[in-house]
Amino acid sequence: MITVIGSINMDLVVRTDHFPKQGETRLGNLFATIPGGKGANQAVAAARLGADVTMLGVVGNDAFGHELVQTLKNEGIHTETIQQAAEPTGIANILVSNKDNRIIVVPGANHAWDAQMIEAMEAIIPKSKVVVFQLEIPVDMVRRGLALCKEHGVQAILNPAPTDAFTEDLLDHGALLTPNESEAETVWGAEWKDAIREFPNQVVVTLGKDGAMYPGANDAVYVTGYPVEVVDTTGAGDTFNGALAYGLSQDWELSKAIEFANAAASLSVEALGAQTGMPALDAVIERMR
Ligand code: ATP
Repeated sequence: MITVIGSINMDLVVRTDHFPKQGETRLGNLFATIPGGKGANQAVAAARLGADVTMLGVVGNDAFGHELVQTLKNEGIHTETIQQAAEPTGIANILVSNKDNRIIVVPGANHAWDAQMIEAMEAIIPKSKVVVFQLEIPVDMVRRGLALCKEHGVQAILNPAPTDAFTEDLLDHGALLTPNESEAETVWGAEWKDAIREFPNQVVVTLGKDGAMYPGANDAVYVTGYPVEVVDTTGAGDTFNGALAYGLSQDWELSKAIEFANAAASLSVEALGAQTGMPALDAVIERMR
């Protein structure tokens, strides 16, 4: 079983031809409410591939919260461990223009973790094969979760995004770290490619259209990106993480899991919205040929 411990948000997506400048009003040409949140997205990515997925997170007792839990259920994800808080469900305000995006996240209920959530985490981690974390829930909870994974010998993946809450001690728990390029630079500085050599097979850096790279036992290994027609890159990183978790839950070598995740993520950028384009297993296998 894969457990995803993280955020559940409603994405409020606005598409426009030009981003407004400060103080400027622009007309948009599309508005959509699309289920998101890095945690939920990564759970959906893994479930689409056929994994047995449990989601641990908090939503509000409001329309977005109910809709989001239902959406996860519809994907076959176990949602009994999702709790309701008095705070409103988290939202992400996503502006999309010309294949670029700008995002503001308001965490709301995602930050309303209490003692009951800690108990739920303590109960579920020992039963999991792979546990996936991001940094859209309180970082103390991530820290506890990573320590529990280490204690129980459970494979953890930490997608250190957003990096605002990142602290160096999160590297100490043996989790597989999956930053994108700018997150790697925030964590290790401009010389991140040198710095990650200290962590062979423990870091994978996603490189957008250029694919991904990781420090192998000896040299850096580059996994080339697939040439695709990009519609919306929102959720590409989440698809990568969900697919990586799927691969590791199948006991694949890290190299194979990364190649698989790279193919899955390339499919996700071909559709608008984070979860919309997340592929099924067959589509990923087809792309890898
Ligand atoms: P996002 O925040 O947009 O969800 P990210 O910044 O977390 O993504 P990226 O490194 O941009 O992560 O992309 C993650 C993965 O998605 C890449 O490793 C690659 O496999 C795939 N990908 C992203 N953009 C493209 C692209 N233009 N063409 C092909 N594959 C892509």
